[in-house]
Amino acid sequence: MERFDVLIVGSGHAGAQGAIALRQAGFAGTLAIVGEEAELPYERPPLSKDYLTGEKSFERILIRPAGFWEERAIAMLPGRRIVAVDAAGKTVRDGEGREIGYGSLIWATGGSPRRLSCSGHDLAGVHAVRTRQDVDQLLAELPAAGHVVVVGGGYIGLEAAAALTEQGKHVVVLEAMDRVLARVAGEALSRFYEAEHRAHGVEVRTGALVDCLDGRDGRVCGVRLAGGETLPADLVIVGIGIVPEVAPLLAAGADGGNGVRVDAQCRTSLADVFAIGDCALHHNGYADGAEIRLESVQNANDQANVVAKVLTGQPAHYDAVPWFWSNQYDLKLQTVGLSIGHDATVLRGDPATRSFSVVYLRGGRVIALDCVNATRDYVQGRRLVAEGIVAEPAKLADPAVVLKEL
Ligand SMILES: Cc1cc2nc3c(=O)[nH]c(=O)nc-3n(C[C@H](O)[C@H](O)[C@H](O)COP(=O)(O)OP(=O)(O)OC[C@H]3O[C@@H](n4cnc5c(N)ncnc54)[C@H](O)[C@@H]3O)c2cc1C
Repeated sequence: MERFDVLIVGSGHAGAQGAIALRQAGFAGTLAIVGEEAELPYERPPLSKDYLTGEKSFERILIRPAGFWEERAIAMLPGRRIVAVDAAGKTVRDGEGREIGYGSLIWATGGSPRRLSCSGHDLAGVHAVRTRQDVDQLLAELPAAGHVVVVGGGYIGLEAAAALTEQGKHVVVLEAMDRVLARVAGEALSRFYEAEHRAHGVEVRTGALVDCLDGRDGRVCGVRLAGGETLPADLVIVGIGIVPEVAPLLAAGADGGNGVRVDAQCRTSLADVFAIGDCALHHNGYADGAEIRLESVQNANDQANVVAKVLTGQPAHYDAVPWFWSNQYDLKLQTVGLSIGHDATVLRGDPATRSFSVVYLRGGRVIALDCVNATRDYVQGRRLVAEGIVAEPAKLADPAVVLKEL
């Protein structure tokens, strides 16, 4: 049986950074990443952005060039899905029954795209945007597709809509709630993005519930809405969130539910088992201490860095400032902090100029900013969030007032 001092399960952002940070911290033991995907670790954000538009090749989105892993003695075990964990025996087992032993285990498995609960999800032409394979399949079918329906008005759905409408497709976005981005942003930002997409020719429908997908000869041909209307569809993109990939760990006895519960050192309730990235349920100081999962590159990387320190005997705890970005058309959104639980918002600048920020407050303190084509606000606002600065709304609203002076 193979055995590694540290075994990382999942070759995404968190898993890759975990291995990189361990070697940077001087970890000299044996180290491997076992992952379900066939590829070396690659960046996921471009999948709905410049990889989908064809501006970036796959080689350009690799997290590190192929030789990097070998040079640092990081063994790559691709194409293997771990299905069971034996925390007492310190082994994991893959789908073909092969066991791998570990000294410490880092669980970095992200999540799988949530499926539509209605019929038709398994028809050809219905795609998620989570892996390279998903996007390559979608791209292969794109030339023959005129009508694209995107189910879900979150960041991934909207980015895909922007990328495909720019390639001349007729795109409809269906959002079940009364505005896009409802789970992650305030109303001003939602309305701005709805208007931008409409101005680019995307049909944005809010309050739209999917009843089922219609198929012909095994291929999707339409999306039926709850009201009875059917939209023509050659391709359907489903972007309605993820389900954390934690079943083997929970079956092994780890605490959790919607993710694996971890402490500030990213330790699970199982001895010598850590969890990081999208699948890690943690108390976040920037969410008022609430227990959340954060789906961002920042969280994946920063939690990986914490575990690397813990495993190399350095003091560490996770308290990084959350940040995120989204590119749609020529709009660069940069977000810092978490707007969950805000009780007031301040609009800074005029959305009509396509350069503005939304500042979120809780109890008078700045907790987050969404900055559209406003990098200066993003950079300076970071400090307001990190320090929980109490700021006067009138000053925040005035673009002439420099944020760093607050
Ligand atoms: C299209 C898209 C666009 C995004 N855009 C942004 C953005 O602009 N900014 C941002 O901050 N974040 C963005 N994100 C989110 C960001 O990519 C994720 O937060 C990040 O990838 C999380 O890293 P992770 O390692 O936890 O999970 P992942 O990167 O998903 O990696 C998990 C890996 O584990 C593997 N795996 C799962 N289960 C098993 C198993 N049982 N055995 C073996 N392997 C397994 C998976 O196949 C996968 O390779 C985007 C995500 C997507 C999909």
